[in-house]
Amino acid sequence: MENKPKKPTPSIKQNHGRHQDPVARRSNFDEVALGFGLEEAVTEAARCLNCKNKPCELACPVNVRIPEFVDLVHKEDLGAAASKIFETSLFPAICGRVCPQETYCEAACVLKDRFGPVSIGRLERFTADYARKNGLIKPPACAPDTGRKVACVGSGPTSLAVAAELRKLGHAVTVFEALHEFGGVLSYGIPTFRLPREVVRFEVDMLRKMGVRLLKNVMVGKSITIDELKKDFDVIYIGSGAGLPTPMNAPGEDLVGVYSSNEFLTRVNLMEAYKFPAVDTPYYVGKRVVVVGGGNTAMDSARCAMRLKPERVTLLYRRTRAEMPARGEEVENAMEEGIKFEFLTAPVELEGDEKGRLKRVKCVRMELGAPDASGRRRPVPQKGSEFYIEADSLVVAIGQSPNPVIQQTTAGLSVNKWGGIITEEATGKTSLDGIYAGGDVVRGGATVLLAMKDGKAAARAIHEKLSAKVN
Ligand code: FAD
Ligand code: SF4
Repeated sequence: MENKPKKPTPSIKQNHGRHQDPVARRSNFDEVALGFGLEEAVTEAARCLNCKNKPCELACPVNVRIPEFVDLVHKEDLGAAASKIFETSLFPAICGRVCPQETYCEAACVLKDRFGPVSIGRLERFTADYARKNGLIKPPACAPDTGRKVACVGSGPTSLAVAAELRKLGHAVTVFEALHEFGGVLSYGIPTFRLPREVVRFEVDMLRKMGVRLLKNVMVGKSITIDELKKDFDVIYIGSGAGLPTPMNAPGEDLVGVYSSNEFLTRVNLMEAYKFPAVDTPYYVGKRVVVVGGGNTAMDSARCAMRLKPERVTLLYRRTRAEMPARGEEVENAMEEGIKFEFLTAPVELEGDEKGRLKRVKCVRMELGAPDASGRRRPVPQKGSEFYIEADSLVVAIGQSPNPVIQQTTAGLSVNKWGGIITEEATGKTSLDGIYAGGDVVRGGATVLLAMKDGKAAARAIHEKLSAKVN
């Protein structure tokens, strides 16, 4: 690139990358964030001070070598930049898109308060996309086969991280996935306008090229039990996620037109209902959609609903914007797309018509009281504040709990009161010898990076166990 800015140029304004126009994107499922071109990436990379104590890298749950890869982007050595990220993360095009950098690496960037942080997530995404499109990504080398066999249950980020790490160390890994597509929430939950399917498929395919066996349509606990798997595998890692919807327990939740976010997102994303009638999966949202919740799942549900072209989408959240657990960028995107936010509002009853279809939602206004167990101020209903919102459909996105099948079919596996598998934090060891677990089935709904972090920690412990057996 000619006229490349010399490093460091921290005071150049932070570049957040280009985005699809908010009105145009309301009617398509194409990616919203368009990212950087080479020139923008190199200019953004020039802002980095290459801090010796690496605060950004230390704040990253998987310790991506941030200053080094950003420096390589500035030098336009993108193959080397991609390899540098690969040293600690095999899924940079995914993480560059969906990780909450604003709470991890970018929050720790020394430039944050004066000029805005280096756009680390956008640079990671650019590097991974460039390397993928230009054939610069080679699967990492794997050690000679050890003869040890590991089964991973589920193919979400936590199992993918375990599979990658253990395969590199020469162990034979088989992944069992209940659905017909690999990737867990990355495929069935997060919409294509945030994470295109081909990105997930490419990064999953990397594992296949490394020799990981990926089996789909196998529900462990039903098609085959953990005890049966134990006969064929030295170690089992459970990464079955948290896909069990939390109901509101409000009267009327069984009316036609009321969905759990899980059903709604699976239908729209995984089954591609938005292409109906070109695909078999129908959908119904009607003219007025209400979404309940304040996390990423609620934002994704509301933004998917908006793309199905109703007249309006209203999001109800019982606290204020400051307490919303969703990524800031996703809240902004949702607002730009015209979703109406009703803060300090909770549904108390769903009313239907004579055919059992949802007609309107009785709501109550809340105020914030003393902090609850989560440290956030508890929402308290305001007396006499009831009001109604007309609605044809409603999506409940107020949280998920661990998938229960394995816990119910595996004797001796210790679980907590929410159904999460209890593990030793540093290793992922469960109450049963040779069985490890991590990600959302343990944490009960966290982030992609924490799921990967658990997977990497368990992989270290599993390798230690298997090496002891080998010697
Ligand atoms: P999952 O991704 O849930 O994968 C578990 C897999 O196991 C699934 O494929 C499931 O089908 C399979 N499975 C379950 N039971 C069985 C069984 N018995 N046998 C075989 N397979 C089984 N995090 C972020 O960092 N950024 C985001 O922007 C973000 N957005 C999100 C949006 C939505 C809609 C949701 C629901 C979550 C989001 N998250 C986000 C959270 C993040 O996706 C999860 O924390 C992460 O995917 C957890 O990874 P996991 O591997 O533990 O589980
Ligand atoms: Fe660069 Fe910011 Fe990391 Fe310092 S903290 S190395 S400026 S990205």
